[in-house]
Amino acid sequence: MVMEGAFKTFKEICEDPYRSVPSKKVIGLTPTDIPEELIHASGLLPFWIMGTTAPIKRVTALIPDNACSFARSSLELVLEYQRDFFDGFVISQVDDTTQHMSDLWERRFRDRFFHKFLAPRQLSRPSARFWFEKELYYLKKALEGFTGKTIEENELWESIKLFNEDKKWLLKLYDIKKRSPDLVSNRTFFEAVKASLLMEKEEHLNVLRKVIDELETSQRTNGQGEWIPVVLCGLFVEPFEIFDLLDEYRLNVVGDNLIVGSRYIYGICKEADNPLQALTDRHFSRPNLSPVHDDPFKIIKDVTSLFYQSGAKGVIYLHIQYCESQEFDLPDLRRYLREEGIPLLIITTDFQTKHVGLLRTRIEAFRELLGKA
Ligand code: SF4
Repeated sequence: MVMEGAFKTFKEICEDPYRSVPSKKVIGLTPTDIPEELIHASGLLPFWIMGTTAPIKRVTALIPDNACSFARSSLELVLEYQRDFFDGFVISQVDDTTQHMSDLWERRFRDRFFHKFLAPRQLSRPSARFWFEKELYYLKKALEGFTGKTIEENELWESIKLFNEDKKWLLKLYDIKKRSPDLVSNRTFFEAVKASLLMEKEEHLNVLRKVIDELETSQRTNGQGEWIPVVLCGLFVEPFEIFDLLDEYRLNVVGDNLIVGSRYIYGICKEADNPLQALTDRHFSRPNLSPVHDDPFKIIKDVTSLFYQSGAKGVIYLHIQYCESQEFDLPDLRRYLREEGIPLLIITTDFQTKHVGLLRTRIEAFRELLGKA
């Protein structure tokens, strides 16, 4: 694959995010929508926790087998495998699963900084904005208590600008990838996004700028050729080998609503007014997320408009096994897309999956179906 070498840093980070000791104190945070700029402005490193494929040992006794693998494997990761990597945690409570998980988590890390971030789920309620502002305030105060240092407005702006800049470059990369999937594969692009959540933002931005400059100066152009445009929906794509299958069958992701994808990179704050206000506005402008029950039809509207606006030929939906929120969304989404005549492939996976061979036939068949359309 062209340019693969330039993206090596991101690949290595994704494969082993814990290999180097960060220079700052590390705050592990769980997806999604925690305003990580506040953590960065405190002089700490926000570091996303996204499960493990390593065996579940300790969590078997804590969380039932039919809870989602995100919760089970994330808690396992910090209890069994990376306990000493983190100096503290900010845990996002988006549903019952994350609520129970965070209680268990907190009790086992009494010696660390611990904060629960409870964003409102029904965003259309008049009280939701007030609630979110309070949550921001509580997070800010908790971080200040931990570091012993006030987060000044200019420091928060600096962090917001840095994170915005990184996202703008990721959007540039997405644009190149959509136009030239032979230059930047699905896997390469989504690794660049994931790495952004697992390393110092300044370093990520430096590497990203270099690779994009290189891509642009190489002036290599590459059409979509045999690639078929698709939209990728859901929460997470795990394991990342799924992207290899999409690359192999030349299905080019031209739109998505993933947490480690567009939901993150389009989350650019407006650089005006008050920084806390900017973080609040950003939260309320985000697209649908399964656990957030704002409007039950929003998921359908978001997915169909993504499909039509991106020029995709089909939708691939990644369903995390036992994700209660997605299981509420899926029946309506499936029925609506069928009625609209939009081809849909649902892939059920989990954070513990290591082999994706069983998906090969289904992805190949979907590719053939889209090729005939
Ligand atoms: S939203 Fe789904 S995947 Fe995420 S914690 Fe809840 S049940 Fe698990």
